[in-house]
Amino acid sequence: MHRARKRFGQNFLQDNGIIYSIVALINPGSDMHVIEIGPGLGALTLPLLNNLDHLDLLEIDRDLVAFWNEKSLEGLTVIEGDALKFDFLAWAQNRADKQGLCKVVGNLPYNISSPLLFHLVAAASHIDEQVFMLQAEVVERMVAKAGGSDFSRLSVMLQARYDMELVLEVPPEAFDPQPKVNSAVVRMIPRRDFALSNAQWSSLEKVVAAAFSQRRKMLRTNLSAFADRLSLTETELKARAQDISVDRYIEWAKVLAS
Ligand code: SAM
Repeated sequence: MHRARKRFGQNFLQDNGIIYSIVALINPGSDMHVIEIGPGLGALTLPLLNNLDHLDLLEIDRDLVAFWNEKSLEGLTVIEGDALKFDFLAWAQNRADKQGLCKVVGNLPYNISSPLLFHLVAAASHIDEQVFMLQAEVVERMVAKAGGSDFSRLSVMLQARYDMELVLEVPPEAFDPQPKVNSAVVRMIPRRDFALSNAQWSSLEKVVAAAFSQRRKMLRTNLSAFADRLSLTETELKARAQDISVDRYIEWAKVLAS
């Protein structure tokens, strides 16, 4: 029997109702290309595989990789690796040669969720949808709107690249072992209107990081290094980072990159 490893963020789903709901949200279809990050013992894997011709698994825990390899299930490809280093763009480009949507899904290890979400941005041009279970507090920050206290660097950067929606709340009792926090499922669809160049994206990273560097300070202070290039209004100079819309940050990034 596999013992859950804390260092790999292993909390296994055990509530059939929740599992069913997540699989329904992923909505697997036979011609779809799906990669599941962290299959664990297969709570989502087996019902997904029932509805797909093919499923790729990406798992870091060697024991779990061996567990899946021993099963040698038809249609399953098991990749041993760290999701933080995996080339999702190459995976999607390879799959996109064929027909069908490309989806990245998983009940993610919570200890690496933010770096993993940023790592996946590099593949967004070739991904149709991501459906992830995460710590509820992280999902709330991802979907928060400007003006609210949850609106943060994560909100701006991810909303610049994806349309996102919190689609399901999941209590700790749905897992074994139970996490100490509430969880939630988020659906992320790369924005069709995304048009930033690499240089503009890195300007966005810089200006957003600077704006949020000291949350309580006004932008007059946090953005002083950019002041000569950005024409901030009087209201904006007195505003705080969480009061500025995603679109306005994008406008600033374009100016800085030009
Ligand atoms: N999908 C299973 C479920 O819902 O019961 C397991 C989810 S568990 C929260 C997270 C899974 O991600 C574990 O299987 C863990 O070994 C795996 N994992 C942790 N870190 C990883 C990484 N860096 N790359 C790939 N998989 C990872």
